Amino acid sequence: MNIDSIKNGFVIDHIKAGNSMQVYKYLNLGELVCPVAIIKNATSKKMGKKDIIKIDGNIELNLEVLGYINHDATVNVVKNGEIVEKKHLELPETVTDVIKCKNPRCITTTEQDIQHIFKLTDRENRVYRCIYCEAKAND
Ligand SMILES: [Zn+2]
Repeated sequence: MNIDSIKNGFVIDHIKAGNSMQVYKYLNLGELVCPVAIIKNATSKKMGKKDIIKIDGNIELNLEVLGYINHDATVNVVKNGEIVEKKHLELPETVTDVIKCKNPRCITTTEQDIQHIFKLTDRENRVYRCIYCEAKAND
């Protein structure tokens, strides 16, 4: 793959086509000052179409969040213009403060200082439930 001008950073590859804006939002990439490139609907032999995000900067990438949104993605770590590591993601056991519980009677809706924690209850069907009220997460 052509990683163009990235010196030190990340290439998030194999993002499901159409999901890149969601990844961008959840990883707060809009707050970064380093260059970020989003490529939508790139041709993929494996997937037909895919999205790619390139980040030219040494940032802390939240792999838990990324795994939650798009666990099929691959993260290529780039150092000095070369891919030095490929990280494969998996669904995290828990996600904290990424999604919010939609249940109006849930304690997280009434209490301000509480963390929004969801637990993976069904890996096969990718089901997450609120640890307080067990409401299903829907994204
Ligand atoms: Zn809840």
